[in-house]
Order: sequence, then C-alpha cells, then structure tokens
Amino acid sequence: TEGLLEKSEKLALVGQMAAGIAHEIRNPLTSIKGFIQLFRSKYTDEREHFDLVLSELERINLIISEFLVLAKPTAIVFKDREIQHLIKDVVTLINTQAILKNVQIFVDFEDDIPTIVCEENQLKQVFINILKNSIEAMPNGGNIDVKVKKLLKDKVSISFIDNGVGIPEDRIPTLGEPFYTTKEKGTGLGLMTSYKIIENHDGELKITSKLQKGTTVEVILPTVPATHLAK
Ligand code: ADP
Ligand code: MG
Repeated sequence: TEGLLEKSEKLALVGQMAAGIAHEIRNPLTSIKGFIQLFRSKYTDEREHFDLVLSELERINLIISEFLVLAKPTAIVFKDREIQHLIKDVVTLINTQAILKNVQIFVDFEDDIPTIVCEENQLKQVFINILKNSIEAMPNGGNIDVKVKKLLKDKVSISFIDNGVGIPEDRIPTLGEPFYTTKEKGTGLGLMTSYKIIENHDGELKITSKLQKGTTVEVILPTVPATHLAK
C-alpha cells in the first residue's frame, strides 16, 4: 500500500544519513570520554558530576551504536547461510541475559529449511533486537518460542513469540518509527534498524500483539538471491 511505501522510503533516508553522521560523532566522543575519565581521577571531589557526564556519554554511545548497525560495512557481503546456524549463534549470545531474567528460549525448526542469502551480521542484529525486546517485555520471566518454517514461493518464516506485556493495538502501525520507546533506558531505534535491514534483504517484518497476552514478531525472508544486494 501507499503508506508502507512512504514508510520504507523514509526509513532508507533516515538510515543513510544517520549512519554517516554516527561515524563522524564517534571519534570525538571517544576523546571526550578519555578526558572526562582523566578529570574524574584528578578532581576527586567532583567525582559525582563526572560520573553523570560519563553516563550521559554512554547514552549517546548507545544511540550511535544502534544507528551504526545500518552503516554500510566496508564490504557488505550477502552469502548463503543456514538459518539454523544464525539462530543458534544468536540464542547462545543472548541466553545468559535471558536466564538472568527468568526467560527460556525454545527453538523449533521444520525439516529441510533451505538456506537464505543474507548479510549475516546484520541479520543476527535483527534477531538480537527482537529477542531483547521480548526479554524486556517479560519483567517477571516467561517463554520465547522461535519457530522456523518453510513458506510457499521460496520463502522462510522465522517467528519470535513471547508472552510478555504486549503492545497497544493503536501503537502497532507506528512501530519502526525512530525514537518511539516505552522504556526508561530505551532508544526506540531497534525496530527501525530491524525494519531497514529486513527491507534490504527483500524480506518482511510483521508484528502482531495482544495486551497482557504477548507479541509475535515474524520475519519472512526469500530463499533466492535478493534483487538489491548492496542497498
Ligand atoms: P527500545 O527497545 O529501545 O524501546 P525498539 O525499537 O526496540 O526500541 O522498540 C520500540 C518499542 O516497541 C518498545 O519500547 C516497546 O514499547 C515496543 N515493543 C517492541 N517489541 C516488543 C515486545 N516483544 N513486547 C512488547 N513491546 C514491544
Ligand atoms: Mg529494543
């Protein structure tokens, strides 16, 4: 539909610009951080103020890191990959965090899932963003089911199903807009970058949710080469 097209165009622009600016900001930021650390150890009675500055710098850094996921790596390479391996790597990476929050992750694959053509690190980042959101949506613990299925027409579907707090219905169409967050320490950039990356893979990202019941994020990816490989 027209609305969707507008959204994806907006995302493309925001992504390219933000990634460029983010790169430029990172270096001076590192040098400022170094000086603040130096001052902090020198002027000990001002320590609390310097700590505050450092934590604000940390926040800037977090926001920039989220944008940099969109930045074109020096060589963006789309390769044939097995979803099984990607998911396994990602779950291993995030499992300690999940266990700490009393969240269990269950993975379920259909047989004979075909390989997909993808930029491995970017796709992993998407899966991490989605899993993190699910963990954060279950403050008292819960389960995440990851289901991988074949679809007709050379596509695979990867669903992440949580039983967390859910998302209000009127909010669902606006997900993916930059800076929308309901979290005190959130950036509201995780879903935006995820939409952008999946779009670059000629895929789809769909979110369905019910308040107090849970959220399902479905990523659909083509199993044949993407048409715009270096977007
Ligand atoms: P952030 O995690 O920094 O808030 P995101 O872009 O990752 O930014 O998510 C934006 C918002 O979408 C979240 O603040 C939250 O309100 C909502 N959201 C995303 N995923 C889920 C989920 N699985 N369950 C409930 N709410 C979610
Ligand atoms: Mg997030």
